[in-house]
Amino acid sequence: MGPVIATIDLRGSDLDGLDLGSIVPRAPFDVDAATAVVAPLIAEVAERGAEALAEYSARFDQVVPESFRVPVAMIEQAVADLDPALRSAIETSISRRRAVAAVEAGERDAGVEVAPGARVSQRLIPVNRVGLYVPGGLAPLSSSVVMNVVPAQVAGVGRIAVASPPQKDFGGWPHPVVLAVCGLLGVEEVYAVGGAQAIAMFAHGVDGVCPKVDLVTGPGNIYVVAAKRLLRGRIGIDAEAGPTEIAVLADETAEPGFVAADLISQAEHDPLAGAVLITTSLDLAERVRGELAARVPQARHAERIAAALSGGQSAIVLVDDLDAAVAVADAYAAEHLEIQTADPGAVAARITNAGAIFLGPHSPVSLGDYVAGSTHVLPTAGCACHSSGLGVRSFLKAVHVIDYDAPALAAVAGAIVTFAEAEELPAHGAAVAARFEIAQPVTAPD
Ligand code: NAD
Repeated sequence: MGPVIATIDLRGSDLDGLDLGSIVPRAPFDVDAATAVVAPLIAEVAERGAEALAEYSARFDQVVPESFRVPVAMIEQAVADLDPALRSAIETSISRRRAVAAVEAGERDAGVEVAPGARVSQRLIPVNRVGLYVPGGLAPLSSSVVMNVVPAQVAGVGRIAVASPPQKDFGGWPHPVVLAVCGLLGVEEVYAVGGAQAIAMFAHGVDGVCPKVDLVTGPGNIYVVAAKRLLRGRIGIDAEAGPTEIAVLADETAEPGFVAADLISQAEHDPLAGAVLITTSLDLAERVRGELAARVPQARHAERIAAALSGGQSAIVLVDDLDAAVAVADAYAAEHLEIQTADPGAVAARITNAGAIFLGPHSPVSLGDYVAGSTHVLPTAGCACHSSGLGVRSFLKAVHVIDYDAPALAAVAGAIVTFAEAEELPAHGAAVAARFEIAQPVTAPD
């Protein structure tokens, strides 16, 4: 008996009359409830520092590390102990992510002369110090080290710190593969601190442990998301990257075994993970259902997968045609959107909301999770309608540099004074007028 995944049958419905954003299910992701847990925790870390970190590690991770800062020798040892096949996989992941990151930021110093002598340029300046979160509750996500660190390094961030939960099976240190990836990337500032307490440590700084950072990025569970939301402003944060989601948009040409395997692959992350199939084909839907029934009980994390697939956040959505499928996918704004149709490129060109789009039968989400070269830190919970995945841009600040000469300023002085008067801020106009009152006697001819 496989998981009971819900069916939402939109065939024959007038989609214009429906609120598609709420018809397609979403995880019961109650950040407000998590905020109530996390707010006092953040205050405690801010006030009591390392003592509070130790208490929360004991409570939530059932272990307190010997020191919160991981010794560099331990990181080096983790690299030395790496299995050669795993090391090679990690190196592939790093080099492909670097190759894509190299072209992500675009032009660093772009400028334009808006009028003679009036130049405005934009400099993309890296954030000085970042705190990167690497999950380690249900699974030690060593690939998230690559996804956080590589774009930060390519952006030119000077000081990079990583935090990942202490593991009771590894003496209270982060998972050794997490440490090994840090070592391979040359990151030496690593903390054995997890969850909301890690975000609080980064945001406030903890005396004798970790200086404050400017920006925190990385995926995490609901407590990590809640902490980032609460601390936003004190620190910068990337888009909300919570429990994972996959939507597969498929027609009758899709291979049911591939679709089922991909839905399962993301359901494996978290009982709150969402797995949605949007299809024009009832036959495909039934065959995928059969594949799920056969495959889920065989999976290592069968219980977690079944919980995710039969939770309210997963479904098979039946639609009349590809237009309707695109409308549903856009309204859902999936973190990961796979398109398995006869012409996936043409369908993808019409999608406006998705964290990342995977085309055709040979681009599964797990390729993107590890070695595609793309980012796997992606906006969830519908945030893909306004936010992007974690990339080089996430670590850069765009600073405009304004450089006008005297004639160029004089040419717009009237416009400034007029605007300033309309806003009842005459001192703004006076600041421009002052330049010409001073300049006139010097530059005026006899
Ligand atoms: P995690 O590291 O995010 O969380 C573990 C920490 O949660 C623990 O260290 C503990 O401190 C804290 N915690 C546990 N129970 C708590 C409680 N009751 N109260 C307060 N804090 C508590 O690891 P995880 O739990 O495995 O979650 C990782 C998440 O990241 C998954 O949901 C996964 O889907 C998601 N993810 C998302 C993306 C993305 O880009 N959207 C990428 C990778 C992973």
